[in-house]
Amino acid sequence: MSAPAPLVDQFQRRITYLRLSVTDRCDLRCTYCMPERMTFLPKKEVLTLDEMHDMALGFIKRGITKLRLTGGEPLVRRDMIELVRALGRRIRADDGNGVLEELTLTTNGTRLSQFAEDLSAAGVRRINVSLDTLDRAAFARLTRTDALPSVLEGIAAAQAAGLKVKINVVALKSVNEHEIPDIIAWAHGQGCEVTLIEVMPLGEIEEDRLDHYLPLSGVEQALRQRWTLTPSGHRTGGPARYWDVPETGGRLGLITPLTNNFCEGCNRIRVTATGQLYACLGGNEQVDLRAALRSDHPHEALDEALDTAMRIKPARHHFAIDARGAAPALARHMSTTGG
Ligand code: SAM
Ligand code: SF4
Repeated sequence: MSAPAPLVDQFQRRITYLRLSVTDRCDLRCTYCMPERMTFLPKKEVLTLDEMHDMALGFIKRGITKLRLTGGEPLVRRDMIELVRALGRRIRADDGNGVLEELTLTTNGTRLSQFAEDLSAAGVRRINVSLDTLDRAAFARLTRTDALPSVLEGIAAAQAAGLKVKINVVALKSVNEHEIPDIIAWAHGQGCEVTLIEVMPLGEIEEDRLDHYLPLSGVEQALRQRWTLTPSGHRTGGPARYWDVPETGGRLGLITPLTNNFCEGCNRIRVTATGQLYACLGGNEQVDLRAALRSDHPHEALDEALDTAMRIKPARHHFAIDARGAAPALARHMSTTGG
């Protein structure tokens, strides 16, 4: 039998990275991400963990080598650790069904103290933790939850369990703008890499994101007043550009979807908790994998759906936050698509 065809899109980009949202639910309510009274999906619409597992195996067969579990908050889904354990068994298990090189996770960190050891034992080696401020009151305002101490405990627990932690920071004008250098210095001091992210126009929230949109080009210039930023040879095939900071000994990534388009080398696709595959974070091109998984011939249907996804993946996204009205925000939230 011939090997299953790899996932290559119409622009000859090889797709090797899947971000899978295991739930749209979250225990925080970050103001830039979702409204305070967010409507979550009815549970019956969400894929079961078994369905997610089968689907992930189908992706791995087709050449997905990196799998990131995200959400919503992945660690609020009950029994989620069982999925991590099952997928962890696929890491470098070369039995002709594809090889998973890396299983990772993006989390807000609130439940990490509880799960860090289990994640590490399941084969997770690196995680991303989102942390936009180190000021407890500012954290409580930004996330509408007083949870900074649990997040910091979670990060410490993850490191104690041997996980490498990267800190993701969404740069927000007049919210954490002034604090960004301190967050970087703190994170590098803890041995954590930092990635700064521009806020993206995804889903309705109470406020106008334009009010807090902070172009990273300006942040980069400000950081250069304080530190040397040396271009780093580090590459992930992802959207970040990396810099080494000799003064702190750490690495800094900048993700600039608005000021600097990163689509040319895109190697990723995303699947929501209901099994909708989005070919691009910034577009509406989608394929229904849940229908495929629940059909009479799920394996064949999943393969066909993945082939369709390769045909419809667009060349690039068309986010524009400062052209008010020119490119409306996508209706779905980052927590739905999976960040
Ligand atoms: N709950 C987990 C967390 O916060 O890490 C995982 C899901 S969250 C949607 C993934 C990432 O998306 C986080 O780093 C978050 O800060 C970021 N994010 C959420 N909404 C965003 C937006 N509108 N623009 C840019 N980043 C956003
Ligand atoms: Fe939850 Fe993550 Fe969105 Fe914050 S950014 S509300 S932690 S999903």
